[in-house]
Amino acid sequence: MRRPVPRAARGPGRWRRGLRLAWAAPATLLGVALALPLLLGGGRLARHEGVLEVCAPDRPGWAWRWVARVGIDAITFGHLVIARSPAHHAAWRAHERVHVRQYERWGPLFLLAYPAESLWQWLRGGCPYRDNRFEVQARQGAGEGGAQAGARSPGG
Ligand SMILES: [Zn+2]
Repeated sequence: MRRPVPRAARGPGRWRRGLRLAWAAPATLLGVALALPLLLGGGRLARHEGVLEVCAPDRPGWAWRWVARVGIDAITFGHLVIARSPAHHAAWRAHERVHVRQYERWGPLFLLAYPAESLWQWLRGGCPYRDNRFEVQARQGAGEGGAQAGARSPGG
């Protein structure tokens, strides 16, 4: 018995999905390049709802200890998300999926727009991370409350 093909997997939806993947591909490739040493260091790769997720092994090596040292819980590059653990993926999935959608909208320009927005906020006397409009949008999109929203690392 054949399973019905979801509407999004055929017709115009399929093309739109392909275009979003292609538009974000330069950022995804950058993420792959950054994830490579983490994967060689024993990192685990999984696919979740069309997004590649990389996380640390049970016994993290030097590359993963560096990720922990700089305080990154999770970070998104196109359709690839790197997180410190499966628990971090679970905790930040909704937030990081907003960043995935931002990459789908902005494509490679997001790699410039995000730091430019951080610089703008810093020049205005704000917090480059917390006040960054892309982070504000991600927190709102993920339905994050106050405590968690202010206590995480850049995800953009
Ligand atoms: Zn974020």
